[in-house]
Amino acid sequence: MFSGKTEELLRRVRRAKIARRKVQLFKPAIDNRYHATQVLPHFLAHASDEKLQVGEVAHVVLQAREILSLVEPDTDLVAIEEAQFFDIFLTEAIRILSRQGKDVLLSLLDQDYRRLPFPIPGSDRTVGEYLAMAHESLKLSAICVVCGAEAHHSQKLVLKAVHEGKPEYVPASYYGETVTVGTSQDILQEKLFADNQPEFAQFVYEARCRNCHTVPDEPES
Ligand SMILES: [Zn+2]
Repeated sequence: MFSGKTEELLRRVRRAKIARRKVQLFKPAIDNRYHATQVLPHFLAHASDEKLQVGEVAHVVLQAREILSLVEPDTDLVAIEEAQFFDIFLTEAIRILSRQGKDVLLSLLDQDYRRLPFPIPGSDRTVGEYLAMAHESLKLSAICVVCGAEAHHSQKLVLKAVHEGKPEYVPASYYGETVTVGTSQDILQEKLFADNQPEFAQFVYEARCRNCHTVPDEPES
């Protein structure tokens, strides 16, 4: 998170386009709400196309199966943003697209906020599968917001209280939930905004190094 993986994905997309390769870009319908630290958009992405921040148009889809149906026969490169939010069918989709001779490029978070391999929504498997299928993988680091060191972890913070209009966030328990795309969007939106303080996100994420990252209630072994 905050490591520049989207920028790296888009850099590769742009290079492919310069090389006159046909590229299609995909992102899951929910991902745009998990990156903002304070201001989360109050709308959900229902549109089939959405502009990414640097002007690349992405297909916004709910399920991995939709990627297969939208990829056109002459597409050379399929780029997928925030792949950790897609369902397990993405594994099959990658296999099928590869067999068709297409290159598949994923950007994803490999760890959840507990520092465990990110679970593939709706399954007991993790995104480690995608890494195992890759010809190449690149692990990027962010900057720890606490101390400035290299950060490899996502700190999840939950809204505890609001004092005089200022939110107080505290580290999320190990036993909190990992948000997945399997949940309906309406429920997710309700969870994201605290009931009585709709202007503040119920939880936020920030990049932290190993020393500054903390997970209350984490089991010893
Ligand atoms: Zn730190």
